[in-house]
Amino acid sequence: MNLIIMGAPGAGKGTQSVRIAEKFNIPTISTGDALRRAVREGTPMGQKAKSFMDAGQLVPDEVVIGIIKDYLATDACRNGFILDGFPRSLPQAEALEAMGVRIDAVLSIEVPDDAIVKRMSGRRVCDCGASYHVENNPPRVADVCDKCASALYTRADDNEETVKNRLATYHAVTEPIAGYYASRGQLIRIAGEGNVDDITERIFDALKQIEA
Ligand code: AMP
Repeated sequence: MNLIIMGAPGAGKGTQSVRIAEKFNIPTISTGDALRRAVREGTPMGQKAKSFMDAGQLVPDEVVIGIIKDYLATDACRNGFILDGFPRSLPQAEALEAMGVRIDAVLSIEVPDDAIVKRMSGRRVCDCGASYHVENNPPRVADVCDKCASALYTRADDNEETVKNRLATYHAVTEPIAGYYASRGQLIRIAGEGNVDDITERIFDALKQIEA
């Protein structure tokens, strides 16, 4: 199954993509995680991406298209994949299509803006890609990752001002791709508010149609 998961920053894409990946035994790739790793390691790509990320803007299309192209060429993707946070602009969606990659469904996790701004202050993440929320999805031990026991932290771009910029970018540049995939009959809208497990259930129910 070849999937895309999209949604505003903090809509829960990361948490849900990990659950889908586990259930269907397919890998998930987050362009945000790949970029944060590059920033930490100080690679040329990371140096280029950092100022865009800190400002809550998208990094240039060619950078993320390159990440995805390399990734989709690996053996890990042979039996399917989930793209988390890519594509995020029409040129990225067109580049993916031009790669000749079949997409079975695009899940759009929908959460209103005011709920997003409230959620972001409670988000805690781990370098392994796991993501938590202090109230909605807490780790078993406060500030410690359930998966790898590393210390959790708040992302530099989760402060209120940057979140507002990221939301504005989402509405202006990313949301139009929902229409692009809807016109191809591939878009599945998922109500993204409420209990994390309930949202996962909604996604699994929706994906039953794809599996059938
Ligand atoms: P995320 O972890 O998905 O919220 O991404 C964090 C940041 O990485 C975003 O605010 C962007 O600056 C950058 N980023 C991640 N994915 C993309 C993408 N597909 N296109 C452009 N920038 C991206």
